[in-house]
Amino acid sequence: MYSSFSAKAIFARLFFALALSFFIGYLFGYAFILVAFLAIALLTWQYHHLFKLMRWLWVSKSLSPPISQGLWGQVYDGLYRVIRKHRTKQKRLNEKIRQFRDGAEALPDAALVLSADLTILWGNKKAQRILGVRWPGDVGQRIDNLIRFPEFSRYLDEENFDVPCHIPSPANAELMIELRLMAYGTDQVLFLARDISKIHRLEEMRRDFVANVSHELKTPLTVMRGYVEMVQVTDNALDPYWQKVFTTMETQVSRMDRLVEQLLILSRVEVSTEEEEKYFVDMPKLIFALIEDAKWLNQEKAHKITSDIDTNLAIEGIDNEIKSACSNLISNAIAYTPTGGEIHITWAKDGHKAKFAVKDNGPGIRPEHVNRITERFFRVDKSRSRNTGGSGLGLAIVKHVLNHHHAELAINSQWGKGSEFIIYFEPKAIRKIS
Ligand code: ADP
Repeated sequence: MYSSFSAKAIFARLFFALALSFFIGYLFGYAFILVAFLAIALLTWQYHHLFKLMRWLWVSKSLSPPISQGLWGQVYDGLYRVIRKHRTKQKRLNEKIRQFRDGAEALPDAALVLSADLTILWGNKKAQRILGVRWPGDVGQRIDNLIRFPEFSRYLDEENFDVPCHIPSPANAELMIELRLMAYGTDQVLFLARDISKIHRLEEMRRDFVANVSHELKTPLTVMRGYVEMVQVTDNALDPYWQKVFTTMETQVSRMDRLVEQLLILSRVEVSTEEEEKYFVDMPKLIFALIEDAKWLNQEKAHKITSDIDTNLAIEGIDNEIKSACSNLISNAIAYTPTGGEIHITWAKDGHKAKFAVKDNGPGIRPEHVNRITERFFRVDKSRSRNTGGSGLGLAIVKHVLNHHHAELAINSQWGKGSEFIIYFEPKAIRKIS
């Protein structure tokens, strides 16, 4: 127990002992010898305790200090108190770490804690199962040495961690996993991996279902369309009532045909992967051909269509997908701009990127709809879109095509004034026409 420590009292006691020994020594004629004797005895006593303390600190396994009285007793008690305080703190800390680990083990996801340079510091048991991380053998390994998929390397290079990355599991090729990286603390990264095999399989089934149904609908629609056209061109003129009926049937069958066509295109671009072989695409030639088609589409609306095309600029990509994306943007501008509007098509370099832009002076899109119009079947005004023959799939197709090409879609639109849809191609996709 600590009793208040007084330097004065200690020195007074020392002085008294020395004075007494000096006095007794003086009486017998050995004053200095007795004082020296006392000093050596005191020093020996101090060293004895010092060695005891060293032995306790460095050799003894016992937590409780050696028993001692006086000043040394207080030193031992003080040290013991500090050690106990540390032990209690450490216990609390260990308890917190245990709670954190239990929490991380209870997560439905594989979790890894990485350092800022992406080396593994810690992981839960699911990380061993889903990611094949060995414990503790892989501690200190970089995560991209263990997960060697091109998609994952690209994901790390692009550093756009707001979106997840989907890859097969390195431990089991039958599992599909979704990865997310989140920076936390000063220099740590939380790496989460989720098994999405079920969702992936359902998504595949949905895609196959849509593709199969669309494919199966194609033949009956062609047959119906053929018969409707046959009746319309027959020599026996139909009376006006039936004429109207067949015209409506023809319009509706054409609409269904277009919808099925777009569904098939969407299914195709959805299954095609980024790894698909890309070729030289002569963009000026492709765009001029699309403008020719647009003139035919434009007969009724009679918009003024102008263009500004860089004839030396090409890209590397998938020809029919690019064509489908550009043609969707042009046909939307024609469809949604009221009669006699102005449409301008640009193909040019913009900084290091290449841009394909379609600008119109149509109704524009409200800001709250801009983020949603690339969703499947999203139409701002269903009835107007239906009248223009729209299916709500055009921009969804554009979005998928651009994903394959690492290209971006920008939409500049002012409600009531017009819209501009711009596709930006990455510098590495740009080629020159010699
Ligand atoms: P749709 O087949 O209905 O045209 P899209 O996916 O191509 O489907 O377009 C989605 C919606 O975006 C359209 O319904 C329309 O409301 C809006 N939109 C697309 N392009 C334009 C444009 N140039 N001007 C105004 N609105 C547009």
